[in-house]
Amino acid sequence: MSPESRICVCPGSYDPITNGHLDIIQRSAELFDEVVVAVVNLSTRKNKPLFGIDERIGFIETATSDLENVRIEPFDILVVDFARKVGAKTIVKGLRAISDFEYEFEMHQLNRMQAPDVDTLYLMASPQYSFLSSSGVKEIATFGGNIGDLVPEGVAERLQEELSRHRTV
Ligand code: ADP
Repeated sequence: MSPESRICVCPGSYDPITNGHLDIIQRSAELFDEVVVAVVNLSTRKNKPLFGIDERIGFIETATSDLENVRIEPFDILVVDFARKVGAKTIVKGLRAISDFEYEFEMHQLNRMQAPDVDTLYLMASPQYSFLSSSGVKEIATFGGNIGDLVPEGVAERLQEELSRHRTV
């Protein structure tokens, strides 16, 4: 990558990746020379992810294998510091319902205060994914609902497996 390359970071917990996340990553890959998908690797006892960091990264790698300018990295620092570390001036986030707006507006101000050299670009969720979240998918899967159209191939099977394991322990 040349020093003039436009790099962006798509941060998230991706627990697991959904088709909504994938849509934002694909659209970012059209807009930027390089996309770094940054996967949060910090778990408090309260917010313990269902899938470990390696598996979350593996799902994203498989789902984005056709996108040459996308790479995936774990991170456990401030997202603006991570952006600086990889040479990105832009963080890309998806905006779903109005409920996302308030939180993102606040985070945007806080991040700008920490790092005026890094800006955040918001992509509106595609209509078919505007109500799709990892937590919603997990909830539907817990009760045996069909999630095949909501997550990339392979993720649905692992999700059912993992949730049934949790039900029996
Ligand atoms: P979630 O909110 O589903 O737990 P993350 O914390 O992993 O997801 O979110 C990472 C980023 O992906 C955030 O910017 C979030 O707004 C965006 N995102 C998540 N789901 C969607 C979707 N269905 N459409 C557009 N953007 C999304």
